[in-house]
Amino acid sequence: MAVEDGRPEAGVDYPRTYADLLEWFADDAACLEYLGRLRWPEGFRCPACGAGEYWRTGTGLWMCVACGRRTSVTAGTVLHRTRTPLTTWFAAVWFVTSTKTGVSAQGLQRVLGFGSYETAWAWLHKLRRAMVRPDRDLLGGPGVLVELDETFLDGVTRGGVDLWKAKVPVMLAVEKRGRKLGRIRARVTARPGSLAILDFAAEVIAPGTTVRTDGAPLLRRLADLGYAHQPTVAIRATDPATVLPGLHTVASLLKRWLIATLHYGIAAEHLPYYLDEFTFRFNRRDSRSRGLLFYRLLQQAIATDPHPLDTLIGGTQNTNP
Ligand SMILES: [Zn+2]
Repeated sequence: MAVEDGRPEAGVDYPRTYADLLEWFADDAACLEYLGRLRWPEGFRCPACGAGEYWRTGTGLWMCVACGRRTSVTAGTVLHRTRTPLTTWFAAVWFVTSTKTGVSAQGLQRVLGFGSYETAWAWLHKLRRAMVRPDRDLLGGPGVLVELDETFLDGVTRGGVDLWKAKVPVMLAVEKRGRKLGRIRARVTARPGSLAILDFAAEVIAPGTTVRTDGAPLLRRLADLGYAHQPTVAIRATDPATVLPGLHTVASLLKRWLIATLHYGIAAEHLPYYLDEFTFRFNRRDSRSRGLLFYRLLQQAIATDPHPLDTLIGGTQNTNP
């Protein structure tokens, strides 16, 4: 792999086309090999003793020559103990990342020939969980402005049907690099107008960053958290577009994406997963290669906690596709 400089190469580190995908990943052994390279870019390291020499077992594990410890490349990830062939997972990741706006559960069900809508739905949610890197870089930093606010996703409908009933408050942080928009973070909040937005800021914005907000008094505490706080004059601007233009743009895009992508209504409690997908796509919108998104999503998938279906839907079913 040519990833030493941090820039994976098309055709070398990730498939360029669907034809590449089929050729590279003809069976699960090839998929495992690839996941091994993503998990240990500098070569296998035994998690028990740190040694680097290994044998591959017939069951697809890495066995340490020094201490005999067997390691599964998928253990502790969304791909752990899946009964579905890895080749099908790889195809799903390809379809999810190869289109600009993503794929609906119905679309995935169709292209992969799943028996049920629920299976495709659960797969998409598992992949969405992988779209958030556990060790994500903080927004901001020297010379970068971050706009911070709450926005309400309300009246989101498709074909006259409400996607959800209540207004859903979402906290947004949007980088502005000069005139250009940078990366974003988004999170649903249960308590709009509360200290939750300060917790959110502390978790996603690097200390020292200039943070622009509206004039809500609560937000003055941002200065106590080590930010250069830049409140706008009005307490609540009547036209948010003029006060926090970057944030306003992102909020509109988010709403439009939700309307365009979703074929069925979504429950408000699943909105966090959709925010993760939107964030993943937005923050990589300039990627020249869709194949690179495939690479990044698989890379993140094997670094993510497993989320069995029952935790996704509140334990009402225990299908585990
Ligand atoms: Zn070992």
